Amino acid sequence: MDRKFFSLPQRTDKLTVNQIHYIFSETYKELRPTLNCPIIYVEFYQFVGINHTIRLKEDKLYIRLSDLFKDAPTSLMEVLATILFSKLLNLNIPSNTRNTYRNYVSSRKIRIRSLKNRRIRGYKLLHCPQGNQYDLILLFRKINEKYFGGKINNIELGWSLKKSYKILGQFDPSHRSITINCLLDSSRVPEVVVSFILFHEMLHVKITGDSLINIKTKHCKKFREEEKRFIGYGQAMNWLKNNMDHNL
Ligand SMILES: [Zn+2]
Repeated sequence: MDRKFFSLPQRTDKLTVNQIHYIFSETYKELRPTLNCPIIYVEFYQFVGINHTIRLKEDKLYIRLSDLFKDAPTSLMEVLATILFSKLLNLNIPSNTRNTYRNYVSSRKIRIRSLKNRRIRGYKLLHCPQGNQYDLILLFRKINEKYFGGKINNIELGWSLKKSYKILGQFDPSHRSITINCLLDSSRVPEVVVSFILFHEMLHVKITGDSLINIKTKHCKKFREEEKRFIGYGQAMNWLKNNMDHNL
């Protein structure tokens, strides 16, 4: 595709929504010359990651493009249109089209923007770490010194917004956050139990780190062995067994 968009900006100017709309309808006609082009609605959307959606509903096409593509050049918009329509129409995507898209997405500029968005938009809302009964920051500091040589850093701590009947605590590597179930922020729960759960999540930080790959093997043998280093392990486990029906 080279010619027909000669009037469209090729380099620095941002495409207007009308121009993008034009690119999409022309691409559709090119891919399916015999079919009538449906009415197309295109908009940018603030997805968490790099994502686009295309949906056909009652002869209308609704297209949402990642706002990371807001200043994508004309040639890239053509590539994107080809990919989305090919998926919709079950056509093979030419490998050069696929490669051009991949190169753009993996360009430094887009990767950095995407990471930023993920941090901001995928932000998990937590209550502050100072609860009614327990202060997670104080507990964290104590545990960090005692068991981890103070090496667990840059972790966002907080009580969960809602009581969970499934999960006691959770480490989320993409936000480097540890959430503790607010159900445990109570005088009925011994401190050793809350500390143990926090310790358990911090062990995930130590063992898994930022990697999202180990999710399935996260309670591996090594993990379970290290977990027993916690002073009060038996006491905490017993209390949990008798009082909670939750997962760690
Ligand atoms: Zn766990």
